[in-house]
Amino acid sequence: MKKQEILDKQRKYLWPNHLLYYKEPVPLDRGEGLYVWDVDGNKYLDFFGGILTTIAGHNHPRVITRVQEQIGKIIHTSTLYPNENHVKLAEKIAQIAPGDLQVSYFLNSGSEANETAVLLAQIYTGNREVIALRHGYSGRTQLAMSLTGHSTWRMGPTFSPDVKHAHSAYCYRCPLRLKHPGCDVACAQDLEDVIRTQTSGRIAAILAEPIQGVGGFITPPEGYFRIIEDIVRRYGGIFIADEVQTGFGRTGTHWFGIQHWGVEPDVMTMAKGIANGFPLSNVITRPDIAESMVGTGLTISTFGGNPVSAVASLATIEVLEEEAPPLHVQEVGHYLRTELDRMWEKYPLIGEVRGKGLMQGIEMVANRKTREPASDAANLLLEKAREGGLLLGKGGLYSNVIRIAPPLTAKKEDVDAALEMLDDAMDQVHKAI
Ligand code: PMP
Repeated sequence: MKKQEILDKQRKYLWPNHLLYYKEPVPLDRGEGLYVWDVDGNKYLDFFGGILTTIAGHNHPRVITRVQEQIGKIIHTSTLYPNENHVKLAEKIAQIAPGDLQVSYFLNSGSEANETAVLLAQIYTGNREVIALRHGYSGRTQLAMSLTGHSTWRMGPTFSPDVKHAHSAYCYRCPLRLKHPGCDVACAQDLEDVIRTQTSGRIAAILAEPIQGVGGFITPPEGYFRIIEDIVRRYGGIFIADEVQTGFGRTGTHWFGIQHWGVEPDVMTMAKGIANGFPLSNVITRPDIAESMVGTGLTISTFGGNPVSAVASLATIEVLEEEAPPLHVQEVGHYLRTELDRMWEKYPLIGEVRGKGLMQGIEMVANRKTREPASDAANLLLEKAREGGLLLGKGGLYSNVIRIAPPLTAKKEDVDAALEMLDDAMDQVHKAI
């Protein structure tokens, strides 16, 4: 199908509220490694990876082979029947997960995983109320939208009254107008006040992203999550780390983002990169917490942990272990970050560069002093980068944060290629604005 035909059918047969990137949307046709091609044959270096999902690179031969083999055997079983791939994957993730997180429940999407994690916390603790963070994104179901702290992603008339939002450590735009260091991480301390004034005083959990993805790669300072964890536990809650974006080595050094912050989560949710693009998500927890679900009702997931997605996930993790382990991500991410910091010196449009590993954000501002968000500059940058052959992402409450998150298999040469295109796009925006 030609590009125009696809766009026409999109308009006619798909809901009009599907968010599409670019003034002229780009129908993608195929992918290989770090590159994708649109239907007109244009080639792009993909530094957004289908929203941080194709972490082993597009169509990795190992993932393809294992999936093809599995499709030839059986495509679907449902969770009513044990399956080798399902249990092998659970074992594999237990091996790389921190602490005592050992038992998994596989589902289909990040939204579903977060819903399930909250249910688990409520049943385990016997408490109802849940704390989420402002600027967070948790998904598109009703409860996930309730957890989301980002007005543009909250639709509809009904939200859960049991979710309260605490401050995020968005230091660049400190909600308390303080400066770190020297602020005593007051935004984290405020959680106690939120619990005492907005809840019954007993909570089920906090659900938080170690680095906020959709929020614009908001990276908390050292110490923030330790304070949060302490308060949460004192008020009866457990700690749920939403690793949908930060999991599987994305942030470098560790397999999971929360490990940077010295917190032992009780539950982790994961999706996106888990199976390199196959629909799969997971909620992993400690055996004693999972045990609390027994006897509370029947539960199945029709598609959860299906053998094809499960084997795709196993192959993806194997690829990461061999080609892109967390230390590789740390090294390449550090290289990318150093070069982005250099770009900060060159372009006043860049207010802040932040992130960890291969999850780096550029917050664009109209004025460095006032920090006025520059969403039009961010939009233009996205367009110019695409014209030059580079796909990037965007985020942030003000839609002014460029999100850079390539497949973790990216090497320094790939980063160099992306930086050249980014610099060129930045230069054009700098001259145009
Ligand atoms: N949590 C986070 C941190 C996310 O970034 C997302 C998706 N952007 C979700 C949950 C929801 O995942 P899904 O779109 O698979 O439902």
